[in-house]
Amino acid sequence: MSWTLPPSPSLRCSAQPAMDAQVQELRLQLEKQCLLNKELENRNADLERHLQEKEKLLKKLQRQLDELDCQQERSNNDSEADVRKSRTAVIATEPIPEDVDITGTRVQKTVSESSLIIKAIQKNDFLSRLDDEQVAMMVDCLVEQELSQGNAIIMEGTEGNTMYIVAEGELLVTQAGRILRTLTSGDVFGELAILYNCKRTATVKAVTNVKLWCIERQTYRAIMTNKSKKKREQIMGFLKTARTLKELSDMQLSKIIDSMEEVKFQDNEVIVREGTEGNTFYIILKGEVQVTKKVNGQQKEIRKMGKGEHFGELALIREICRTATCTAVGPVTCFSIDKEVFEETIPFENLELHDDLNVFEDVMAPQNKSQSSSMQLKDFVPVLYQEGRYQGEPVTLGVGGFGRVELVMSVQQGKYYALKRVSKKHIVAKRQEEHVKFEKRILQEIQSDFIVRLHAGFKDIRYIYMIMEFCSGGELWTKLKEAGRFEESIAVFCAACVVEAFAYLHKRGILYRDLKPENLMLDRHGYIKLVDFGFAKELARGEKTYSFCGTPEYMAPEIIQNQGHDFASDFWSLGVLAFELLVGSPPFSSSEPQKIYAKILDGALKFPPYMGEAARSLISKLCRPRPGQRLGNTKHGIKDVRNHRWFGSINWQKLRVGQMEAPTLPLIRKGPCYINFDRHPYDWTQAEEDFSGWDEDF
Ligand code: ATP
Ligand code: MG
Repeated sequence: MSWTLPPSPSLRCSAQPAMDAQVQELRLQLEKQCLLNKELENRNADLERHLQEKEKLLKKLQRQLDELDCQQERSNNDSEADVRKSRTAVIATEPIPEDVDITGTRVQKTVSESSLIIKAIQKNDFLSRLDDEQVAMMVDCLVEQELSQGNAIIMEGTEGNTMYIVAEGELLVTQAGRILRTLTSGDVFGELAILYNCKRTATVKAVTNVKLWCIERQTYRAIMTNKSKKKREQIMGFLKTARTLKELSDMQLSKIIDSMEEVKFQDNEVIVREGTEGNTFYIILKGEVQVTKKVNGQQKEIRKMGKGEHFGELALIREICRTATCTAVGPVTCFSIDKEVFEETIPFENLELHDDLNVFEDVMAPQNKSQSSSMQLKDFVPVLYQEGRYQGEPVTLGVGGFGRVELVMSVQQGKYYALKRVSKKHIVAKRQEEHVKFEKRILQEIQSDFIVRLHAGFKDIRYIYMIMEFCSGGELWTKLKEAGRFEESIAVFCAACVVEAFAYLHKRGILYRDLKPENLMLDRHGYIKLVDFGFAKELARGEKTYSFCGTPEYMAPEIIQNQGHDFASDFWSLGVLAFELLVGSPPFSSSEPQKIYAKILDGALKFPPYMGEAARSLISKLCRPRPGQRLGNTKHGIKDVRNHRWFGSINWQKLRVGQMEAPTLPLIRKGPCYINFDRHPYDWTQAEEDFSGWDEDF
């Protein structure tokens, strides 16, 4: 902006010359100031330009840094993957006693003993994620054990079932004779054993006389499970007293519980304020709440509410303003649900997961029963490696935690089949009799093209055998390791096939529980099929199951916490799968299982910068900590998953009838029938005989 002063009016007085000079002086000063202003304005514009350039540069650098971070993370995981074979599933084999008498296992502790235990729990990766009540239970149930100097408490390689906290003394941890570390008062060891059967990875010996606090898995699981069950029952009882929810069935109420969250309030904290918009319903689990109302400008107490009482139920169904103020008196714990979440959870009429007909059921001719029942084990001959270091040996397609799967050919038809062979003794040792029987029964009934077919089952004195359809494209896991990570179109397609498999299973009340790329096989058309039903389980709607099983990286938080789980945990694992397919490694990973569990319980998802917005949205919705809030488990069921924009490119009808072109086709190699599989040496050892008779009806 530039401007000049108007000429000064002439003044007729004696001081004229002096004034003229003054005016002149002022004019000069003003003009100078104007120039200065202009100069400053120019500089400002310059600075702004500079700032914009710097911001651009900063953004570019940040992008580069993110990319490098990710590469680093990826390469770390890659080096781990090189040495790591497929991840094995874990399981706590023993059933949980229905009603364990916790009072009987309680051991009184002094204040200092309790404080030592609590401190120990707080500094442990996994245990520190337990909530206050769970910690209190654990403190109560730890029992004392003394150990004299020189004795070992844990031996490397043995199966463990106890966790320890050092109360007094010193212990030495060694692995293959190598000293790893010393344990002293307040250290925790063997904590994985309270979750499931696992081999001890180190030996622990007492250096001095030692006092330990210990808890066995049986006790721990019984406590956690029974506590969760009791809490659910209690909340169910509370919910039933809410008038608005009167019409709902137990199953529907159970769904609401799955969506509710625990919230804590401090003394004097206002939970709801009169006159404000209400959108949350609360049940008091612990503490006291004061209800007040403004009367003539004064807060007046109406009443006090305690455990089991609830407030704000109208907020769930109507737009309302709070008619009173509720304030915490002392610390208060509530269980709450927001209107938005509540609306997602009911009405349940729409919850049926069988929203579409499975076209395959009608199109595909069911198994020719007479043919399959007349099949005999001797009708199948092993296929041998034609070249390479195992040339002449039978082809082993895969080795799992329970069995080996070999490639065989039927003598009559010359068709390939996959033969799963599991040692009967091993099944008994791992108490998997029921699981194996169920796997066979379920697979025999299943008629979905997204799930491997079982053609026949056999047994002899050492093994049980399952003749399955051969999926010649190999494991998705192998393909993922080869590719590093998949293009989005491939990940979307694979996940869509899993959605179809889940829709089929869930509709029939079957939970899968072991989703991971290792259990997904490609058929020759590049379509995905689920294999391995070792952990599958039949479950009625509204019911929960309490077994601890799955593969650590894919486990939902409620399984880890023994809180009871259902179909929602399959949706959690679908989120983990989508992430792993896009990134090459799962969202919660570590070389130490207890760190994986800690990360899962924290629930923080970190997406790499290259991951698209739609994928992030889907994964975040599937991996929500509260099972009732997970996509797939909300009121429209699995439809919500199918309708998510990440699956925008999927034509579900075409996918179901196998008419969608599979983007996975280029991943499948051409060559000998076993070319898409890792090679394994044949296992020539024979399993021990088993005559216990559990497999009578196999
Ligand atoms: P886990 O440790 O996962 O419980 P498992 O012992 O129950 O495993 P499966 O997962 O059923 O065994 O099979 C082990 C491997 O065998 C699979 O990962 C896969 O590589 C291969 N396999 C299984 N079924 C088939 C099939 N139908 N066609 C081709 N390969 C198969
Ligand atoms: Mg498997």
